[in-house]
Amino acid sequence: MKKMSNLSSIFGENVFNEATMREKLPKETYKQLKKTLTSGTSLEANVAEVVAGAMKDWAIEKGATHFTHWFQPMTGITAEKHDSFISPTDDGKVIMEFSGKELVKGEPDASSFPNGGLRATFEARGYTAWDCTSPAFIKDGILCIPTAFCSYNGEALDKKTPLLRSMETINIQALRILKAFGNTTSNRVITTVGPEQEYFLIDKDLYDQRTDLMLTNRTLFGAMPPKGQELDDHYFGSIKDRVLSFMNDLNTELWKLGISAKTQHNEVAPAQHELAPIFSTTNIATDHNQLVMELMKKIALRHDLVCLLHEKPFAGVNGSGKHNNWSLSTDDGTNLLEPGKTPHENAQFLVFLSAIIKAVDKYSKLLRLSAANPGNDHRLGANEAPPAIISIFLGEQLSNIFEAIENGTQSVSGNKANMEIGVTTLPPLPKDSTDRNRTSPFAFTGNKFEFRMAPSSGSIAGPNFVLNTAVADVLSEMADKLEKAKDLDKAVQALIKDTLKNHKRIIFDGNNYSEEWVAEAKKRGLPNIKNMVDSAQTFIEKENIELFTKFGVLTEAEIHARYEILLETYSKTINIEGLTTLSMAKTQILPSTIAYATEIATSLNSIKSTGLAVDTFAQESLLKEVSSLNSHLSKAISTLEGKIKTAQEAEEDMLEQAKLYRDTVFPSMNNVRLYADKLEVITDSALWPFPTYTDLLFRV
Ligand code: ADP
Ligand code: MG
Repeated sequence: MKKMSNLSSIFGENVFNEATMREKLPKETYKQLKKTLTSGTSLEANVAEVVAGAMKDWAIEKGATHFTHWFQPMTGITAEKHDSFISPTDDGKVIMEFSGKELVKGEPDASSFPNGGLRATFEARGYTAWDCTSPAFIKDGILCIPTAFCSYNGEALDKKTPLLRSMETINIQALRILKAFGNTTSNRVITTVGPEQEYFLIDKDLYDQRTDLMLTNRTLFGAMPPKGQELDDHYFGSIKDRVLSFMNDLNTELWKLGISAKTQHNEVAPAQHELAPIFSTTNIATDHNQLVMELMKKIALRHDLVCLLHEKPFAGVNGSGKHNNWSLSTDDGTNLLEPGKTPHENAQFLVFLSAIIKAVDKYSKLLRLSAANPGNDHRLGANEAPPAIISIFLGEQLSNIFEAIENGTQSVSGNKANMEIGVTTLPPLPKDSTDRNRTSPFAFTGNKFEFRMAPSSGSIAGPNFVLNTAVADVLSEMADKLEKAKDLDKAVQALIKDTLKNHKRIIFDGNNYSEEWVAEAKKRGLPNIKNMVDSAQTFIEKENIELFTKFGVLTEAEIHARYEILLETYSKTINIEGLTTLSMAKTQILPSTIAYATEIATSLNSIKSTGLAVDTFAQESLLKEVSSLNSHLSKAISTLEGKIKTAQEAEEDMLEQAKLYRDTVFPSMNNVRLYADKLEVITDSALWPFPTYTDLLFRV
């Protein structure tokens, strides 16, 4: 890569990061800010004032004219409202100002963001508060201050707030475990995340001709092209120049923002690619992933490309996901999911691992929910391989070890051994081994877990706050036991044994994409929730409300608001898709296919009028087929129209409405598509009103 040479000089140049702070802030201010960052206490007003001044000067030096509180409302994308630094003076001039108050707190109008009824109509204001653990940065000449977004009454209206709360929760509980093991050096436990982002790139001119892509981010029509992904010739294949030049640009912009874009490759489907950064603290990883998605879209346009982040932009080829690599580490640098070298370290590692196993089993429905969006309904448990069933892959060695603990004696990596906590060391576990199970939704990969269900277009805040809180809950139970234990090793042994006995049903090392697993999982009593509407119900189940409220991650009101937003998002999405289907079918497809029928009929008539005994089989059979499909299409359009109307009218009951969209509008849409796609493959391509799958997937 050519641009690599100056990477170290541009990396983080647009970020008010540690190095910049050390350089720009008075020593005392820097020390106080650092204290705030490490201890999680709130920032003193006078410190904020000094930080704001330094930040403004730095930003103006870099050409910034405005600042914004950058936040992540429940839309799943980021929001910003720009304010210029300009402040008028008495003599009719302006000075550039930015106060500590403006840095720390903003007051955007909250009424236009999804709030699930949390915002009382008489109080439209919302607050944004600086999340000083995520550094400010400059994007397009705007100083962006990462913030959390709350209502007037302090209820979270964003994705970030519960994430920050959950990080604090798991910190407290994980530290208790460490202390029980005699750790005296660690002050914080942080969750680390490295999200792998999948996406499609297609040609901008072709995109512009597809109303469905423009309005719904996915194709609502399109017959399978003669070639799909069956040759596996795209995965890790050499990258086309145009795409490579996009990737180079993207990397440069990401590096400037301090985002460590690391790996890139072609994915399985044609026109599909992936980018992975180096992992970081969860909230920074979340901010960075939002920026990655935003920049992917923006920079694609510079190359006359469009980046599609939808989970299933094309039927019949793989969709996109986001692999959320997750681990726990201490502030003094120990990865808690890294197997240790001594029996003591192993014991601690196995406790954390057991906690995760129990948490994933106990709260598997919540994890499933954290991956639910309308796009993922096309993947999980539907037309694509990954089922909606949560299970954990541990790998053979770890599974053997756990079995050995559970049964007293068993074979550990082939040897008969007695796995005794506090005595036995673990055999070395393969990291990133080639036999990695890529079908598992929650796989242990040597020193971290990879949650593979997350939706490609969504924020990773959801999956991570659920994961953090669920694991924190089990860690807290385990800490209760270990803190009281007289013999720690015995207590750990019992705890692991017990956990496995009750939760081993969640462990599955086989092929998650097989039919047999679906049946087996059912036997094991593992939930298989196939769609977003059913999954949403999980949120308001008693034990889940208890979980979030117990640790203060979400209040009951916040949970209900989020539940409503999920249903609302679902209904609105399917409504837009339904209306777009109607519009394209009525104003583009049917007129074209009727024109085609006319063309054939005209040909038939003019041949017949010659009076010659010519064979008109081609015209006659084609005309019959096109006309019959046209009439099916026309009827399917009327049906869809009726179903949309009924669903729209059912607005008093959100759940009923969402079910109507799922059970009546969605299948009716698919029915319209069925006939349209059949027509596409027999209609004169010159008459077909928009680019086909072949165009979209292969003309990049
Ligand atoms: P693969 O495609 O084989 O899963 P990648 O290299 O594409 O592997 O992605 C692995 C991701 O996991 C990277 O983003 C990497 O930074 C991240 N990762 C590695 N170690 C950790 C960790 N301790 N915590 C969180 N994420 C991690
Ligand atoms: Mg992966």
